[in-house]
Amino acid sequence: MTVRVRFAPSPTGMFHVGGARSALQNWIYARQHDGVFVLRIEDTDAARNRPEWIEGILSALDWIGIERGTYEGPYHQSAYAAEHTAAATRLYGEGRAYYCDCTRDDVVARSGNKHTGYDGFCRDRALGPGEGRALRFRTPDDGATVVVDLVRGEPTFENRLLEDFVIARSDGSAVFLLANVVDDMTMGITHVIRAEEHLPNTPKQQLLWEALGVKPPIWAHVPVIVNEKRQKLSKRRDKVALEAYRDEGFLPAAMRNYLMLLGWAPTGDREIVPWSVVEAEYRLEDVNHSPAFFDVKKLRAFNGEYIRALPAEEFAAACTPWLTGTATIPAPPWPATAFDPAVFAAAAPLAQTRITVLGEIVDYVDFLFLDEPVRDEASWAKAMKENAAALLDAAHAAFAAEPVWTAEPLKAALERVGEQHGLKLGKTQAPVRVAVTGRTVGLPLFESLEVLGRERTLARLTAARARL
Ligand code: GLU
Repeated sequence: MTVRVRFAPSPTGMFHVGGARSALQNWIYARQHDGVFVLRIEDTDAARNRPEWIEGILSALDWIGIERGTYEGPYHQSAYAAEHTAAATRLYGEGRAYYCDCTRDDVVARSGNKHTGYDGFCRDRALGPGEGRALRFRTPDDGATVVVDLVRGEPTFENRLLEDFVIARSDGSAVFLLANVVDDMTMGITHVIRAEEHLPNTPKQQLLWEALGVKPPIWAHVPVIVNEKRQKLSKRRDKVALEAYRDEGFLPAAMRNYLMLLGWAPTGDREIVPWSVVEAEYRLEDVNHSPAFFDVKKLRAFNGEYIRALPAEEFAAACTPWLTGTATIPAPPWPATAFDPAVFAAAAPLAQTRITVLGEIVDYVDFLFLDEPVRDEASWAKAMKENAAALLDAAHAAFAAEPVWTAEPLKAALERVGEQHGLKLGKTQAPVRVAVTGRTVGLPLFESLEVLGRERTLARLTAARARL
C-alpha cells in the first residue's frame, strides 16, 4: 500500500504557523514512507474562495520548502461537489442517514438545555428531502469507535455519546465532516495527519468511512500550539501568520526547523540540525501529547544562528527584499538610486553577526544610503553632552589629518582625541557615532566610517557640530 497523506487547508487569507507545521509533518511522513503528499484546498465556503488566498497558500508552502510541482495537486474541494452529494444520497438510500426539519430552537425547547446535542427526534419520522430539511447521519446506539492514532494511541469514543450529526444542508450541499471524508476517499488517503482540534470530529468521520464501506485511514492528531500564557495561538491575539514571520525576515530553514521542534527533539544534545536529519529522525509517534509552546524568543535566537551560518553572499542576497522592498515588505527609507550593492557588501558582514531577523538590516545600514543620517532625538540627547562640540571638532581634525582611511588608524586617532579629553574610547565615540549614523547603537563604528568614506564622514561631523 502506498502511503498517501494530504494537507487540506481552508483559505483564510493568511497561512497559520500551525498549518505550516501540519504541512511539514505530512511532508516528512510521505518522504519517510516513499509516499505521496497531496494538497487539497478546502474551498467550499464561497466567501473564502478567493484566488489570491489560494495563491497565498501555494506561495507559503513554497517558502517553507514544499514547492509547487513536487506534490500532487492542488485539488479544489469545490470541484468534488457531485461526489459529496452522491455519498449523502447513498447514505440516505441505505438508511444510514435521515432528513430532519428540527431547528436549533426546537431541540433546545425540547431538552430545556441550550448546550444539548441533537436528540434524534426525526430518526423514525421517515421524512423525505425538502425545504428546511438537513440530512443527519444515524450514529450507532451502542458500541464504541476506536480510532488508531499515531500520536495518541487508540482514543475510544462511545457511540451513544455521539449525536446524529448533520452531513448535508437543506440545499443538498455536504458539510465539512462529509466532504472531507469523501475527498480523502476519492484521493486514496491512507493517513490523516492534522491538528488536535479535529479529534472530536474523528469518530464521526470514521463512522462515515465505515458506512461508505471503505477502511478508515490511520489518524494522527498533533497537539495544539500555545502562547506563553498557555493559550491556544489565536490570530486575533498572537502573531500566527507565516507571512508575517517571512516579512520580518525569518529564514525558511530556521522556521521549519523550529516548527518541527514543537513537541519533538532530534537525538543527541542538539536542536539545530540539518533538515535531512529532521526528515530521517522525526517520528509522529514520539511527538509529545501536551500543548506545544510557540516561543518567539527562541525562534528569534534560532533565526540568528541560521543567519550567522549563511555564506556571506547568501546573506547579502537574503537581505535584498528589505533593501529594495517588495509587494509585502515596505521599501527602505532611502531612494532606490542611492543604494549601492558594493557598499552594502562591504557592510553586510558587520551586520550579519548582529541581526536576528533580516528586516533589522535596514536600521543598521541606512546611514550608508541616506543623504543625512536619521534623526533619532533620544540618541542625540544621550550622546551630545556639554563636551560634544569639542569632541566633534577634535574628531574632525584628527580624521581629516589621517592619511589612510581604514578602521584601525581611525580608531587610533579617536583614542588620542579621548586621551586629550581624559575620556575612554566609549565616551569619545558616542557623539561621533550619533553624528555619523544617527543612532547610539549600530555596527562597529570604525569599520562603518571606513565604508562610509572620508568625505561623507567629515561632512556629517561638520553638520552635527553646526546643529549643537
Ligand atoms: N480544512 C480543514 C482545516 O483547515 C482540514 C481538516 C483536516 O485536515 O482534515 O482545518
